[in-house]
Amino acid sequence: MTIKNTALISACLMGFNCRYNNKNCLSTYIDIFLKKHYLIPVCPEQLGGLATPRDKSEIILGNGFDVISGKSEVITKKRINVTENFIRGGKEVLRFVKSYNIKIAYFKEKSPSCGVKRIYNNNILVKGVGVTTAFLLQHGIEVFGVDV
Ligand code: SF4
Repeated sequence: MTIKNTALISACLMGFNCRYNNKNCLSTYIDIFLKKHYLIPVCPEQLGGLATPRDKSEIILGNGFDVISGKSEVITKKRINVTENFIRGGKEVLRFVKSYNIKIAYFKEKSPSCGVKRIYNNNILVKGVGVTTAFLLQHGIEVFGVDV
């Protein structure tokens, strides 16, 4: 018998309509993940207090680590600064990590919150992590990027 552990997953990958455009990006890998883990779906942008649907956001320069350290910001397409929401969302996700002793997360690529290898800076796809991914990596969590 396989003993399952608990892992976090970007809620949109599980089919929750929490994306900026009120849609999801259900992953075909969900059944595989469910065989290995009890999955806790989280949406850092909603947890940070942003509405759904919402304006699309980007880290303007650098990556999630730069946002956490105050060297960069997260700005919406309408030029509203939502950095505080992204920081709050990342911290809320850390509460799940601590409560459930989580060591693994499966996060959606190319998101300013959940991106693991790639994010957007000024509409250009670049290497880098999102804000919540940066928080998780700082706390020793292994984060796997999922493309859809
Ligand atoms: Fe929410 Fe992350 Fe999915 Fe964006 S990528 S909708 S922040 S769970």
